[in-house]
Amino acid sequence: MDNKAIAREFKLLSQLLEFHGENSFKIRAIATVADKLRKLPFDITSKTHEELSEVPGIGKSSALKIKEILDNGSLKELEDLIQQSPPGIIALLKIKGIGPKKLAVIWQELGIDNLGELWYACKDDKISKLKGFGQKTQDELKSIVEFTMENQDKFRYADIEPFANDILHSLKKHLKEESLVSFTGPLRRCCEILETIDILASSTKDELIKWVNQSNIITDIKESDNQLQGTHQSGIKTIIHCSNKESFYARLIETTGNENHLKGLEEKLNIEIPSLESEEAIYKKAGLSFIPPELREGLNEIELASQNNIPKLIEYSDFKGSLHNHSLWSDGVFSIEDMAIYSRDILKLEYFGISDHSKTAVYANGLSTDRVIAQWKEIDSLNKKLAPFKILKGIESDILSNGSLDYPNEILAEFDFVVASIHAQLSMDEKKATTRLIKAIENPYTTILGHPTGRQLLVRRGYPIDHKKVIDACAANDVIIEINANPLRLDIDWRWVPYCLEKGVTLSINPDAHHASELNYLRYGQLVARKGGLSAENCLNCLSLEKIELQLKARKDKNQGI
Ligand SMILES: [Zn+2]
Ligand SMILES: [Zn+2]
Repeated sequence: MDNKAIAREFKLLSQLLEFHGENSFKIRAIATVADKLRKLPFDITSKTHEELSEVPGIGKSSALKIKEILDNGSLKELEDLIQQSPPGIIALLKIKGIGPKKLAVIWQELGIDNLGELWYACKDDKISKLKGFGQKTQDELKSIVEFTMENQDKFRYADIEPFANDILHSLKKHLKEESLVSFTGPLRRCCEILETIDILASSTKDELIKWVNQSNIITDIKESDNQLQGTHQSGIKTIIHCSNKESFYARLIETTGNENHLKGLEEKLNIEIPSLESEEAIYKKAGLSFIPPELREGLNEIELASQNNIPKLIEYSDFKGSLHNHSLWSDGVFSIEDMAIYSRDILKLEYFGISDHSKTAVYANGLSTDRVIAQWKEIDSLNKKLAPFKILKGIESDILSNGSLDYPNEILAEFDFVVASIHAQLSMDEKKATTRLIKAIENPYTTILGHPTGRQLLVRRGYPIDHKKVIDACAANDVIIEINANPLRLDIDWRWVPYCLEKGVTLSINPDAHHASELNYLRYGQLVARKGGLSAENCLNCLSLEKIELQLKARKDKNQGI
């Protein structure tokens, strides 16, 4: 069991204790340990029980619980609580925004422990009448329940990718060496949300059935003409398509692109997709240049390919640095030095931009002006030590409810870059949210607009914004827009990248790393950026250190005297 899995056990324990109305100090203590475990910079299993008891924020009794989980795979106290709870409640507790206390009232008063009944209770106006609820809470609850129902059986790309790799690996090992095997469907298009894992193999169905029976990697198998369908242990539907070797690439094209893409391609071909030696050859036959899988979304890619205008999409190796990251100074778990060294030695980057939280983000240990100045000193000395590698001085400034930024102008003026993001008071209508963002964009010290909608994929909708107005404002004020590369966010949505490019807005793919390993999120940002047609030349952190320093300095000079 890894740190995150153990943290989940503690979180569930704290939620169930709260659901059952236990002592609030105990609940808070367990919840704090869960949070602590999630952020530990080392693997829990690498420490002894004694060492763990000495970690600040864990203590003896939690260390014992951790030991019990590691030894037995479960915690007796938690198992007992699960036994005493209504069966559907565990699933409801996972939904962000409802909370154990509210669920307890709903269960006690209405006997509800599942999503469907909860929705009906909102619709029939039963929730608003409960003590402590009211109309507004009922409306919010209904919206959360609807969002959850819409997203059942959907998964984030990053959560599914390792399973998909396992399946592909197992299948390749089983089949003859000369067999062709590839991801296909939305997975191959790198869609941020997946409902299926699709794999295409040049193999007979009998051979695939043999593999399924031997590997046991997918279960509940259903057969149809040219595919097997089953369920992976993660719960995601898995489809193994099969074809003969000759028609492999025709089938690959057929199963990769979405319906609109295939329609466009078939119109160009005027015949069925022919069996040729490669995908390139098939597109060529249609009078088109090769269309990378990520772009096969039925937007304007057929037209672009017919004019030989498919952009050169950004590659992982194009990254020269990363901006928007956090350290121990705010809510990160690594020192600036460790994050910088990871960037330099593991990721082979030229620079690392730190942008810890600003002073209003008290919950995230945001930096007071004094601490900002102290951090700059630390960075100056690290830059001497790590040269020619460079740490850029940034901040993730909260956008306050009136759209202004944290800190006085003389402090803002000293940063190399400022990421402006909304973290609080998220419940806004489109007009309020758009006005708030535009005010921040018009601030001359804003360099990058951070996670523009605040969405968390499959967890919560973002606040509604008028994307065109926000992007237009960035164009007018020379503000860069972030593609937040955390696979939970991927915000701004890639579907808006073409409009950004049309307006001449540069994008920055930012990992928003709170842990050194999260610097690797750059890759998820890169995948969705490709879907949006982004090239390295329109991505800020593909600039070399020399060029980005010049660009950031030019902005600073422009702001002199404001
Ligand atoms: Zn943020
Ligand atoms: Zn951040």
